[in-house]
Amino acid sequence: MKTFINSISLCLSVALAGLALFAFGRAAAAQTNAPPPPLRWWKGNLHTHSLWSDGNDYPEMIVDWYKQRGYHFLALSDHNVLAQGQRWIDAQTNRGGAAALENYRKRFGDSWVEQRSENGKALVRLKPLNEYRFLFEEPGRFLLLQSEEISDRFGALPIHLNATNLLELILPQGGGSVLEVMQNNINAVLEQRKRTGQPILPHLNHPNFGWAVTAEDIARLRGERLFEVYNGHPAVHNHGDAQHPSTERLWDIALTQRLTQPQGELLYGIATDDSHHYHEQKPNQSNPGRGWVMVRARYLTPESLIAALEGGDFYASTGVRLKDVRFGDGALWLEIEPEVGVTYTTPFIGTRKDYDRSSTPALGADGKPLPVTRRYSRDIGTVLAQVKGPSARYVLKGDELYVRAKIVSSKPQANPSVPGEVETAWAQPVQPGR
Ligand SMILES: [Zn+2]
Ligand SMILES: [Zn+2]
Repeated sequence: MKTFINSISLCLSVALAGLALFAFGRAAAAQTNAPPPPLRWWKGNLHTHSLWSDGNDYPEMIVDWYKQRGYHFLALSDHNVLAQGQRWIDAQTNRGGAAALENYRKRFGDSWVEQRSENGKALVRLKPLNEYRFLFEEPGRFLLLQSEEISDRFGALPIHLNATNLLELILPQGGGSVLEVMQNNINAVLEQRKRTGQPILPHLNHPNFGWAVTAEDIARLRGERLFEVYNGHPAVHNHGDAQHPSTERLWDIALTQRLTQPQGELLYGIATDDSHHYHEQKPNQSNPGRGWVMVRARYLTPESLIAALEGGDFYASTGVRLKDVRFGDGALWLEIEPEVGVTYTTPFIGTRKDYDRSSTPALGADGKPLPVTRRYSRDIGTVLAQVKGPSARYVLKGDELYVRAKIVSSKPQANPSVPGEVETAWAQPVQPGR
């Protein structure tokens, strides 16, 4: 009898399994035939620090902050470390201190937060990415990317590059000049990409931090498509000073020099937070929420996002939202999602092929050349046209090396890294005839 019942239940299981397989097969077939999801914008920050290096909060608290504010993807990019393996830190003397731990326990509970004491010292465990990511990730809603800020230097000059979506830690590669240090680190990223088959994206961070990087260096980099035109850290000199061009001017000089070379690569500008400080929002802190990218892709996957970033199908923003930005039929066109009471000005910026190529070195007080970006004619990165209002279009004449658009609003940033900044967006450069 028992055998009979067992065999019935076995038959039933087999039948049910068959039915499930049939149903699954149908669902899979239906999905294959479904039209692809439409292209849409995904908001993300590619440069973020946590207690794994010099940020002052626990990774879960930081991810929670971004997800709650509508971001779709986030890369935690700590200095020369991946959030992997076992790491215990002092519960009181870490950069977040007692207050951060208290908030962490309140938000995630004592069953999640791991604490122990060793030699009378209270320790707390920093969770690795693979343990905490399931708390937040949702298909089509929120994605975490493994990342590292490769933090190198040449002499006293800090040289930092992010590697987004990497698989293995990359140690700073060093080199005999600023350019060589940058190139060696980019090469290490590209080598890992080639060896593993995983798309890994290098980008150059805050070129004006420590006044380390010149436009001429950026122009000569190979295999490097992205740099931070805006970084939300208050110490990175996005605006330059009397001796050093702004990051936007670096962009125009580097683009011009690259595109006058055979096989010159375009250079795209991203905005990032480089956030370190999560407990107090004010201008001299490096807070989250200041700069991000809006990436156009069908799928919220690392592969789709990286392909769009490398293809220039994104814009950088510190507040301005775009409905659309397109390059077609010889025109660069964009439409802003306007806010009530806010006005918008869009300069179209570029360099014409017949630009004045002269340059002079920047001189110090002693009359000697300084090791900084040379001074170039205003032909480089000139304003080709300027449009006011919620949409803007520029028809390329064909004599431009490139054209890009910057969208400047009248709205002050709520928490600027430098006083007086207004919400802005940067569209990516395009070339005539491409
Ligand atoms: Zn950095
Ligand atoms: Zn950083």
